[in-house]
Amino acid sequence: MNELQKRIIELKHEKNALILAHYYQSLDIQAVADHVCDSFELAKRAGASEEKLLVMCGVRFMAESAKILSPEKTVLLPVPDAGCPMADMIKPEDVRRLKHEYPDAAVVCYVNSSAAVKAESDICCTSSSAEKIVRSLPNKKIIFIPDCNLGAYIASKVPEKEIILYEGHCPIHNTVREKDVLAAKKAHPNAQVLAHPECRPEVLKYADYIGSTSGILEAAEKSHAHEFIIGTEVTIAEKLSAQFSEKKFYPMTGEFLCPDMKKISLPNLLSSLENMEHEIILDKDEMDKARSSLEKMVNI
Ligand code: SF4
Repeated sequence: MNELQKRIIELKHEKNALILAHYYQSLDIQAVADHVCDSFELAKRAGASEEKLLVMCGVRFMAESAKILSPEKTVLLPVPDAGCPMADMIKPEDVRRLKHEYPDAAVVCYVNSSAAVKAESDICCTSSSAEKIVRSLPNKKIIFIPDCNLGAYIASKVPEKEIILYEGHCPIHNTVREKDVLAAKKAHPNAQVLAHPECRPEVLKYADYIGSTSGILEAAEKSHAHEFIIGTEVTIAEKLSAQFSEKKFYPMTGEFLCPDMKKISLPNLLSSLENMEHEIILDKDEMDKARSSLEKMVNI
């Protein structure tokens, strides 16, 4: 551990804080975190923790979800403009318009969305729970927001439902094209392709496994294969390489990097803890409505 990391851990103990980090955070941040998980698991850990001070090393919607599920706690986001461009592609008025257009449809909202958008939705989902959530709803029509790639993947798994897609997407996963996966397969012909459903359908059709970040980590660990092309943010390939030295992991492309996730650094994490910087404040009504959408997801 370097000096900054030691100081962060000291301060974390002094202030009785809990540091949460998403899998896409750089490995030096993950090393000082109490929990490293995917976005919804982070929110659940936040809710279950005894600590009253939470520091979210991730992007804004993750810090908001933590606050929604534990409103009595102080939640800090070390860099206030660490956002998710996909979450920013949809506004509450877009959801209201869709609901007006399709009055008999249920709105299923991917957790990569703002508190205000969650508040307008019927139920939230993660990439791992989306299929189960969509199947569980009595409505034939489902408005799936905001990720059109995840929505299209779910539509292919649940053909009995009519899925109305919104035009949002993750600019990082959506950048990868068929030619990229073909080039990666050509370079590593024996590798298994593990991909996140935020990738385009033209990429997913080459995947041996499609799943959430946690699912990809688990699939790579359990697989008897020795080489893998990782179709999600580049840190996952780095993390797997560090964990399983006997296997080889290749990012699907060199462009698979989320700049917002990388805004959190050791100096700004330390500063956030020292100075209680960048607390998440949300409107109470909005939080209550958003909590209902998140809790329905948990209960399914
Ligand atoms: S990887 Fe994509 S979905 Fe995840 S935070 Fe970055 S922009 Fe948002």
